[in-house]
Amino acid sequence: MSMLTATKKTNIEDDAALLSTVTTNSMLNQLRADSEYDEEDDELTTRPTPTGSPPPVSKTTANSADSDDDEIMASSPPPQSSSAGLPGNMTPATGAPPAADLASGGGTSSYHIPQFPIERIESKMAAISSSLAKEMDEKRAAAAALGYPQSTMNKDDRQLYGDGVSISAQSSTTAGIEKQLPSTTGAQWQQNLSEDNEGQYDFVPHFQRVSIGGEDNNGVPLEDLHWASQQLMEALHIRERYMRVSHQSFPNITSKFFHKKHPKPQGGDPSSPSSGNASVLHSSDSVTDVSAGGDSNNKTEIRQPYPRARVIKHEDRQSIADHPVHPPASVGDPWQCDFPPSLGFTIRAQDGVFQLYSSPDSETPVQGFPYPNLETFCRDMQRLCTMISDGPLKSFCYRRLSYLSSKFQLHVLLNELRELASQKAIPHRDFYNIRKVDTHIHAASCMNQKHLLRFIKKTLKNHSDEVVSAGGMTLKQVFESMKLTSYDLTVDMLDVHADRNTFHRFDKFNSKYNPIGESRLREVFLKTDNYTGGKYFARVINEVAADLEESKYQNAELRLSIYGKSRDEWDKLAKWAISNKVYSDNVRWLVQIPRLFDIFRSNNILDNFQQLLDNVFLPLFEATNDPNSHPDLHRFLQHVVGFDSVDDESKPENPFVDREVPKPAQWRETDNPPYAYYQYYMYANMTVLNHLRIKQGFNTFVLRPHCGEAGAVQHLVCGFMMAENISHGLLLRKVPVLQYLYYVAQIGIAMSPLSNNSLFLNYHRNPLPEYLARGLVISLSTDDPLQFHFTKEPLMEEYSIAAQVWKLSACDMSELARNSVLMSGFPHRIKQYWLGPNYTKEGVAGNDISRTNVPDIRVAYRNETLLDELAVIFGSMPTNATTNTNSGTSTVPSS
Ligand SMILES: [Zn+2]
Repeated sequence: MSMLTATKKTNIEDDAALLSTVTTNSMLNQLRADSEYDEEDDELTTRPTPTGSPPPVSKTTANSADSDDDEIMASSPPPQSSSAGLPGNMTPATGAPPAADLASGGGTSSYHIPQFPIERIESKMAAISSSLAKEMDEKRAAAAALGYPQSTMNKDDRQLYGDGVSISAQSSTTAGIEKQLPSTTGAQWQQNLSEDNEGQYDFVPHFQRVSIGGEDNNGVPLEDLHWASQQLMEALHIRERYMRVSHQSFPNITSKFFHKKHPKPQGGDPSSPSSGNASVLHSSDSVTDVSAGGDSNNKTEIRQPYPRARVIKHEDRQSIADHPVHPPASVGDPWQCDFPPSLGFTIRAQDGVFQLYSSPDSETPVQGFPYPNLETFCRDMQRLCTMISDGPLKSFCYRRLSYLSSKFQLHVLLNELRELASQKAIPHRDFYNIRKVDTHIHAASCMNQKHLLRFIKKTLKNHSDEVVSAGGMTLKQVFESMKLTSYDLTVDMLDVHADRNTFHRFDKFNSKYNPIGESRLREVFLKTDNYTGGKYFARVINEVAADLEESKYQNAELRLSIYGKSRDEWDKLAKWAISNKVYSDNVRWLVQIPRLFDIFRSNNILDNFQQLLDNVFLPLFEATNDPNSHPDLHRFLQHVVGFDSVDDESKPENPFVDREVPKPAQWRETDNPPYAYYQYYMYANMTVLNHLRIKQGFNTFVLRPHCGEAGAVQHLVCGFMMAENISHGLLLRKVPVLQYLYYVAQIGIAMSPLSNNSLFLNYHRNPLPEYLARGLVISLSTDDPLQFHFTKEPLMEEYSIAAQVWKLSACDMSELARNSVLMSGFPHRIKQYWLGPNYTKEGVAGNDISRTNVPDIRVAYRNETLLDELAVIFGSMPTNATTNTNSGTSTVPSS
């Protein structure tokens, strides 16, 4: 590289140098030709045809990119132009002024002149593409003549992928294998699922697929396989029910397997080019879906029944010009919203769950607000707990997970360069300018320590005379009472950073929230509900939000606390947000409910657990039933996306809940209820609340608890049943069955390895890279920048360290970022700008590399792998045994 840069400089200097430049370049060529490339490649790279047949470079882009890119390329300084500057045919020699060459993107030309292996792969493929495409067309014509069903891919679609390159590459890599495949492969399933996919386009990137053929090769005896798949289906079914009834999301792809449990094996053409590919259809159950964009009321990512979301159609890939990557900034008052009239329900808790009654003296609750009752919950939970300790099932899941790891390794080995090449081919987009959401971050620690220090000093300087405590003390007096001046303050003295003493000491960690070890300072600066009305806290959060806005592509889902100590907490919180104008387009709120009942009970603040539930949920029901009864809260709730449940999971507890457990009104002990008890009552109340909110046309909430950071593995069972996604999930590494289920159900996990490193698990032992390899939906998050991070961009710090330690590729990083947006609670409409208007579609059809920088290859790999796994589970049921005894493409090699 340095050599080439040098050449460029000489170019500009004078013509005399040109000769030597050309020499240098041809020398370079010679070197390369000598070292590793064959003749054919050389011909390709040295073919200087700016006017004749399309230059290889443009093919490269067309190959791996979609139509948007072509448009963009055409309108922006075209990289193609630089293909004229291929080695041996320097741009200055063709008469273009060197300055113009630089202006037209010095970057691109210096990238295109050298033909490194990555580009070579693409250009080589481009060269063989046309002949293969022709061959493919002939085959297809022949197949049609014989009456085989046609591929759903039409010509236009193929053009998206560069003149059929993809198809032929696909068939050439797998055609040989497919002949030996048994009937129910993931591909076959997909075909079955996608009978109704007229009009749906297949996006088929070409890459090396990893598939394994043969019979009975899941590595477990057939009976074990049946047993395992029966149980896994049951588990998935449980989750599906819990997600559906609470209006949380469940992956479409998995539900489709439920609904088409007995596919008829098709006599179709097994080597059909579209088989084994990514695009999965949306809805077997609603045909209108594709055209009407009905996904918004379907089960995928969307849960918010915004009318405006529903009218947005899924269209053929829109370019960034048609559908910009930046959503229009919100204008006007962010708290503005409609106030529909009261629904007039009477709200009363029945055994810990709020119910709606038509009148105050009505005995029976109004129908139409279903939720699983405690008995059902206990039964389902017990069932799952039995499953996770079932021997054969454990072996099966463990093997599948090992297989997934190995398969990914192979995938990377074979496709790394292709993935990189397709990322390179996308103009303008790189890791820095793709959307990232910090999916797990607490508001009280969302600023880093230096920021907090600066903020305290600034406040002490400018507002020293403001009264900050009920005792009438001014800020200045508070610091004087601690014998501190602004000058004394340092980060060391602030002492909010986690250190080696916090490892496995959540109590010590919690006290780090107190600057200088003084709860008084925490009260003044980091609380929403204090003497000053949370003024300083609002200011510092607004500063953090301003930093996010400045960074443009970073967003955060901040957790604010509701403790459940008193009935007016919600109203105060809403008032705090609105009166201090704590709003940013880059921020959404989650409300965290600390599991602190034992403390409130022993301090006699609460008498029983029902009171805590009343304080947490009743205001929400009232504000939804009659928005005018809590106007501020109603306004605030439109920016709240869900609930979190927080506290030390490693506290000792009995993780099981059974039917005999005391009802919330009877829970008067000073013991804390178990994790499952908290989750169940949060979930059940949220479910009823969501029904009510839908009735009013409001946004709904999801459950996103801290789960599996420490403590009992049963917490993860709760997460599996009731949470849309979870934070941490570290303990999944110990429970293969759950880990596999989290994978198959595609449950998002917000992981914070730096936080874990200080608290529960050393960085190098963190399971994140393994989870990611296996295809679990992982995102990176910071948890508490105040305690763990050093820089102004904690999220980038998190990504940066992960990338360095685990050697993540640009593709991995982009995948993590895309996951973070997918699992976040930002509105559907916004996600369409960030990820592409079709992001809810499964597989490649839902990916837009020009926004996400995630190569289609990676998305296709994930999607196909998931399909294969689902086919293993669903395809091996005894009911289908006669037709589909075993399942497929991806089976564990028996070893
Ligand atoms: Zn946390």
